[in-house]
Amino acid sequence: MSDERENAIDVREAVKRYGDFTALKTISLTIKDNEFFTLLGPSGCGKTTLLRMIAGFENVTEGEILLYGQEIENLPPYKRPVNTVFQNYALFPHMTILDNVAFGLEMRGNSKADARKRAGEVLELVQLSQFAARKPSQLSGGQQQRVALARALAPQPKVLLLDEPLSALDLKLRKAMQIELKHLQRETGITFIFVTHDQEEALTMSDRIAVMSAGELQQLGEARDIYERPRNMFVADFIGETNLLEVSVDAVEGGRAKCHLGGGHELTCNAVDEIGAGSTVHMSVRPERLFMSDAPTESESLKGTVKENIYIGTDLSTIIALADGPDFIVRTSNSDRGIKRIFEPGSDIYVNMEQGAARLLID
Ligand code: ATP
Repeated sequence: MSDERENAIDVREAVKRYGDFTALKTISLTIKDNEFFTLLGPSGCGKTTLLRMIAGFENVTEGEILLYGQEIENLPPYKRPVNTVFQNYALFPHMTILDNVAFGLEMRGNSKADARKRAGEVLELVQLSQFAARKPSQLSGGQQQRVALARALAPQPKVLLLDEPLSALDLKLRKAMQIELKHLQRETGITFIFVTHDQEEALTMSDRIAVMSAGELQQLGEARDIYERPRNMFVADFIGETNLLEVSVDAVEGGRAKCHLGGGHELTCNAVDEIGAGSTVHMSVRPERLFMSDAPTESESLKGTVKENIYIGTDLSTIIALADGPDFIVRTSNSDRGIKRIFEPGSDIYVNMEQGAARLLID
């Protein structure tokens, strides 16, 4: 299905260099209007740099960034229809919550009365109306973050940039805020560009995710795509948990790759275009797509010994020493326990893959 929405952001072969150091290496991507888009990657991968270039706090060394089709390089930050929510809320401590939100609107030339009226509306949107007369120090961290959000939303930007806005919150509050932010994005229709290094957060909230590492875009896709069809070693390893095995590819046909392990054991994996017969690469399989049995269920079943069972609430993680490879993790959800078998440490077992679960990866 083609997506008819307008492009909110068009990053065209953008490069960012600080002196000799290249923070971003030729990035191209588009972000759709009304999209919840996430830049995900480990510390130092360049996600904040890209966000700051969109906001106008950094210039683009090469290439260009278009905002709703317009060149923006010469537009100062305050003239861009973009606003940013930072990790440290940076509220004015001596002002009330209402004034904190109204302040930016007045700076933009609105009358005091209009600014206060609009501030009242956005405080309602983030469910903080009852705290309008308080000072920031009288609010919890989560509430302060919502004020920062209200303040950024108040001038009705077309694009809202969020730089790790939840990282100062505790886990429970953070999860609640993730859902709240997602609702807010739907309700306002504003394009959200969210930066995080937390893959679970990215999977929970985003329409699409750009996974970055070392200044490069590794993969761009919907959450499910990124999780179930990682392109390369970095993405497979960074997103969720995975099992990796080195395999040699013997033949590729009809989207399937016939492979063998070092010891000769044969396996079938999902093929990818870039990998042909004769290559030695890694394959990845998610722990929840494996199950154990005491006898091989097919010729491809992998022999192993259970090392440990780790109870993690909703799931049980079983560590298995493979006879012909590294340790594997098998995850059995509590709801599958009646169907999938669990074995005690020391048991000799077979590990079986669900059909289509093994994917070849570009290194
Ligand atoms: P984090 O999650 O830690 O904020 P990030 O992915 O957002 O990381 P950036 O802040 O974009 O990373 O930084 C990317 C790289 O560019 C880093 O190696 C950083 O040290 C470097 N960098 C950022 N700003 C500058 C600067 N002003 N001068 C020189 N190098 C910089």
